Amino acid sequence: MRKLVTVLGATGIVGSKALEIVRKNQEKFHVIGISGHSNISLLVRFALEFAPKYVVVSNLLLRSELEQKLNNVDVEILCGEEGLAFLASQKTDILIAAITGFAGFEPIFRAINSGTDIALANKEALVAGGHLLMPLAKKKGVNIIPVDSEHNAIFQCMMGQNWSDVDNITLTASGGPFLSMNSNETQKIPPSEALKHPTWSMGAKISIDSATMMNKGLETIEAAWLFNIGKEKISAVIHPQSIVHGIVQFKDKSIISHMAPTDMKVPISQAMAWPERVKIEIKEIDFLEVESFNFLEIDASKFPCFELAYQLIEEDPCYSVALNAANEIAVHLYLDHKLEFGDIYTLVAKTIDMIEMTNLDDYQSIIDYDRYARNIAISMKF
Ligand code: NAD
Ligand code: MG
Repeated sequence: MRKLVTVLGATGIVGSKALEIVRKNQEKFHVIGISGHSNISLLVRFALEFAPKYVVVSNLLLRSELEQKLNNVDVEILCGEEGLAFLASQKTDILIAAITGFAGFEPIFRAINSGTDIALANKEALVAGGHLLMPLAKKKGVNIIPVDSEHNAIFQCMMGQNWSDVDNITLTASGGPFLSMNSNETQKIPPSEALKHPTWSMGAKISIDSATMMNKGLETIEAAWLFNIGKEKISAVIHPQSIVHGIVQFKDKSIISHMAPTDMKVPISQAMAWPERVKIEIKEIDFLEVESFNFLEIDASKFPCFELAYQLIEEDPCYSVALNAANEIAVHLYLDHKLEFGDIYTLVAKTIDMIEMTNLDDYQSIIDYDRYARNIAISMKF
């Protein structure tokens, strides 16, 4: 039986790779619905190739362009946040959550509610709403399979293992493009430099997060929710070669780690096919070509965003909603040349200092609080 698949954020790096895996494994997967936000020509190409039942353009302004281009095609076209929520609510075997940012939160919430298993790339949804989404997934019997490479690595290390035997887990980080530079050198560095990631090819938001290492901070919060473990059991190290993606140490001091080529097709395909695996064709690791294998401490004075996020594990969810919201605003301003690289941290830290706490125990309160934190972040002057 083929798995029925929905791909949210199909036009992005992760979403496109998920569809490439479908293309090469048509006997295993069938696409039911896809969404994209702005790249209409790619969305149309995918709609024609995969013939899904639903195509969603989440950007309302682009609906008529999509309708025009799919005029004679037998497909249901939906748009905006409502269209996205509708698609996410359609029960399928697996939904690939590859929208970037908090925009992915509502669709993930809807998908869990309708009982669809999730291959989760969208870490921001879990950072902001993990306290709601994970218990809901448990209640609904929904599997959340991590796509983020480090978390997928830990997931794979834990196959056949018990969490009660685990001492700690370690996430690896490439260190991003500015590993060998100090904060004076990076203060005014332009987006064109920050977007050049040394080992992974990724969308703009996560590339900037990798340069500030906010990405690794967000990932420690993501790990705490995904694996239901405390801060004292989670750490991160820089591993510039990006070959080891995650490490688990057990109470008998045995260590199981996961290695794979630096290509997101590995974790995406594993999450899509789980509990099976599919064959993928990518360049294999040749250990004789690997000159060195290093592990370095993350320097908190150089990468304050990492430390800021890490400190929020197990704290009130208001903090992590605000962290995520302010970071999205800061990255956006930086990409628009309206904020200096070095001020991304300052904007996020100042926003967190200014928030007032409230109860975030339901879906709407998280949506409202994200907006509240964004407004504080936007009002910040530099
Ligand atoms: P991307 O920018 O290439 O793609 C983002 C996708 O989200 C696009 O399809 C876009 O149309 C859609 N989108 C953007 N804004 C939207 C909005 N407001 N509403 C609805 N849809 C919207 O990003 P990516 O690199 O593919 O990353 C996607 C997610 O996966 C992110 O959360 C990222 O952190 C995570 N992730 C990515 C990688 C990677 O290697 N690229 C690795 C691990 C995790
Ligand atoms: Mg990652």
